[in-house]
Amino acid sequence: MIPAEFDYEVASSVDQAVELLGSSDDAKLLAGGHSLIPLMRLRLARPTLLVDVGRLSDLSYIREDGDTIAIGALTRHHDVQHSDALKKSCGILAHTAGLVGDPQVRHRGTIGGSVAHGDPASDLPTVLLALDAEFVSKGPDGEKTTPASGFFTGLFETALGPRDVLTEIRVPKLGSSSGWSYQKFNRRAQDWAIVGVAAVLDKQNGSVGSARIGLTNMALTPMRASAAEQALAGAAPDSLGGADQAAEGTSPPSDTNASAEFRQHLARVLTRRAVEEALAR
Ligand code: FAD
Repeated sequence: MIPAEFDYEVASSVDQAVELLGSSDDAKLLAGGHSLIPLMRLRLARPTLLVDVGRLSDLSYIREDGDTIAIGALTRHHDVQHSDALKKSCGILAHTAGLVGDPQVRHRGTIGGSVAHGDPASDLPTVLLALDAEFVSKGPDGEKTTPASGFFTGLFETALGPRDVLTEIRVPKLGSSSGWSYQKFNRRAQDWAIVGVAAVLDKQNGSVGSARIGLTNMALTPMRASAAEQALAGAAPDSLGGADQAAEGTSPPSDTNASAEFRQHLARVLTRRAVEEALAR
C-alpha cells in the first residue's frame, strides 16, 4: 500500500528535531525507516510530519567512557556488530546486532530506532534490558536519563515523550568474570525471534554468581525473567533447574508462528541453553 500523505523535514541538529516535533500534531522521527516505513505503508501509522534525523552523523558513534560504552542513537546495527570496543567489552550487544534481520536491515536500521520503536519482538531492547543499560534523551524540558528497567512501558510504547529524541545508549563494560549469551529461536535464518533469551552472568568459581535474564516476545514489552534470575543465583553448571522458572509472569502472544504455551516452553529451554553457554564462555 501507499502511505497516507505526510510532510517531510530534514533536521540538522537534535535541538531542531525537538522543535520540529512540536510543530505538528502527530510528528514522528525518521531514523533508518526500517520499522516506521513498513507501518506507514500498511497505514498502521499515519504521521502528519516526518522529521528525518538520519543525517545527524554526530549521533553515530561508539565511545568508551570509563566503565561504560556510549553508543549514539543513530548508530547502525552493522556498526554495533563490528565495533571492536563492543566485541571486547560488551560482546553480547555486538553479537546480537549481527542477528538482526539481514545485511540490508543492519546497514539502514539504527539501535536508537530499535529501542524507541518499543517492539517486544525486537532483539536489542531485550539485551539492553539484561545489561541494565541507560537511555539518554533530549526534549523540550532538556536532557534526561532513563534506566532500561523503566523505559519500555507498553506495546510500542516507551518512556519517550512525543517531542523527545533518544540521543545515546549507555551499556556497562562486562568484566572477565562475566559470561553472556543470546539465544534467538526462529524457523528461518534472518526472521524475527519467535522467542529470544539474553543471559548476562556474573560467574563465581565456574558457577552462576548472579544472573540477569531478558526475554524477547514473551509479553507486551521486553521483560526480565525475575523468578529464574533468583532461582539461578549460586547455581552450579550441573544444577540449572532454576531455568524452568523462566516463563513465570510472562504473557506471550499466540500467532501463526507459535502458541503462547509453546513460547513458554521455548523460554524455559532457551534460558537453560543461554545460561549454559554463558557459563562456558
Ligand atoms: P525507524 O523505522 O526510522 O523508527 C522506528 C520508530 O522509532 C519510529 O517511531 C521513530 O519515530 C522512532 N525513532 C527512531 N529514532 C528515534 C530517536 N533517535 N529518538 C526517538 N524516536 C526515534 N529487528 C529486530 O530486532 N530483529 C529482527 O530480526 C529484525 N528483522 C527485521 C527484518 C526486516 C525485513 C525489517 C524491515 C526490519 C527488521 N527489524 C528487526 C527491525 C529493524 O531492527 C529496525 O531497523 C529497527 O527496529 C528500527 O530502526 P530504524 O532506525 O529503522 O527506525
